[in-house]
Formats: sequence, C-alpha cells, structure tokens
Amino acid sequence: MEDFVIPLSDEYSDIYFVEGELSARYPYSNSMLIGDYLIDTGISPKRLKRLKKRFPINHVLLTHWHEDHISGNYIMKNVKFYCHSKDKLPIENVDKMIPLYNVHNTPVEDELKSLIEILRMQNVRVDRVFQDNDIFNIGEQFKLKVLHTPGHTAGHCAFYELNSKIAFLGDIDLTKHPYYGNLDANLIEFEKSIAKIKKLDVNVVITGHRGIINGKNNIIEEINKYEAVLRERDDRILSILAEKKTPTSLAEFKGKNVIYRKYNSAYKDFELIAELLMIEKHFEKLIKMHKIIKKDEGYVLN
Ligand SMILES: [Zn+2]
Repeated sequence: MEDFVIPLSDEYSDIYFVEGELSARYPYSNSMLIGDYLIDTGISPKRLKRLKKRFPINHVLLTHWHEDHISGNYIMKNVKFYCHSKDKLPIENVDKMIPLYNVHNTPVEDELKSLIEILRMQNVRVDRVFQDNDIFNIGEQFKLKVLHTPGHTAGHCAFYELNSKIAFLGDIDLTKHPYYGNLDANLIEFEKSIAKIKKLDVNVVITGHRGIINGKNNIIEEINKYEAVLRERDDRILSILAEKKTPTSLAEFKGKNVIYRKYNSAYKDFELIAELLMIEKHFEKLIKMHKIIKKDEGYVLN
C-alpha cells in the first residue's frame, strides 16, 4: 500500500483518503478514492501516477474549478469527468480562471498564466454535470451523494457516502483560512453551505487541505472553529468602520491584513486582490444583516 493512501473504514473496503503532497498545502490538495471513483486530481502528478498504477480509476469527480483541485486532470486519460454545471467552464477552459480571480490586466495575470504552465494544466471535456442530491452508485457498497455547497465557488460540491457516513468536504476545508476570493464566490452562500454540512450525520470527514477528522463531536467542533474565523473577520471590518466614522471605501482596506494576518511573500500580489474580494463579500453580508450601510462611495456602521 502506498503511504499516502489510507483506508478510511474497517467495515468498508475500497474507500481511501489520498493525501496530497506537502500535506496538501497549496498548490496541492487531498483526494478521496471510492471504488473506481476519484474525487479531485490535485495530489501532485507524481502521486497521481503512482495511484493510477495501483488502482483502476474510471471516473473523476471534481469538487470545484480551482487549480489546486484539477491540476492533475491531464494525467487522467480514459476516464469520465464530472462536475457541477456552474464550475464547468473554467474546468473545460482553464484560461477562464483569470477573469474569475479578477486579475485580468494586473501583474498577477502573468503569474497565474505561468502557474498554469508550470502545473502543465490542460483543458478536459466534462462528460457529465451533476447536481445537488445526485447519487452515484459505486460497486455494491457505496452510494455517494452530491451536496451542492456553493460559496467557495458557485458550483462547489461536497460528497457524502451514505452507508459508511464518510464525507469529503472539498474546500469547506476546516483550516484556519476559509477562502472566498473569486468573483463567483459568495460569503452568504458559503455560510449556508457550512450550516448544511454541520447537519450531516457523519463519522469521518476529509477536506481538500486537512487530513482525516474522526468522530461527530470532533467534526462539529472543527466546523464551529471554522465559522468563528468568519465572524472574527466580520468583527475586524466592523471595528475599522467604527474607528473611522466617515464612509470608508473598499480601496481603503487594501493591505490592512483583515483576512490574511500575514501575507505570503510568494503570493502577496494575488492575496491583496483576493483579500479585497473577500472583504467585499463581508460588506454584502453585513448590509444584508443591517449592520452597515453604503454611504457616498464607502461604508459606515448602521
Ligand atoms: Zn478551492
């Protein structure tokens, strides 16, 4: 058995956690293998090739369009690809990621293009789109249910295996860094999706960037912590607005570490753009909650 392929259940064979390289830190992510179905292809080319030699894989389910989850698609020849219809376009045409990250005509556009080249990403044809509550019957043992969980991207989906009660949450990743920094992200939807996940009757969860989390109580605790990060971000934004008193524009939040407590030197330009997009999504949420209002060209407390 490869050391990065870990069985998830004593009771059910053929369901595995597949750990991404560098402990699934960006630009890698984790996968789950159920029978001949693989979820996501971002574990690293080397690992994906080793996995393919050991296991027959005929189907690839993609949680969403982000590069760190689909970069290995080009390695998976002769498989069927599936994703949600709302994420299909940038999976079939990876250049469409650039406008979605809002980096067109910025220096980050070239950085992203060279990343696409370095990762050797290729377009693939999506054979079938899935939707919320679709079920894939896999072998005799498994019924894998699609959970449309938008927010991180518009078509982001998690997967829940009904018999073993094991779920793959994609980038509702339960790390300290919830992300919604692309144009098709939505914080209000993201929070609804997290609430939906919280209601699942699960024994084990895996996420795109976290290892195995066992036990319902532990899982709930991790979800609570994740939600708390979002509320802390709300609070930081509200306290900046409280201090300023005059209307504060989005641009004035640039580089203030509201979302990224420390910018990563390798990705700083990208993070500055993503951070503003995420703050904008907090504004949208806080307006809806009647905590702030738009005034002149900025925002003030309500
Ligand atoms: Zn993602």
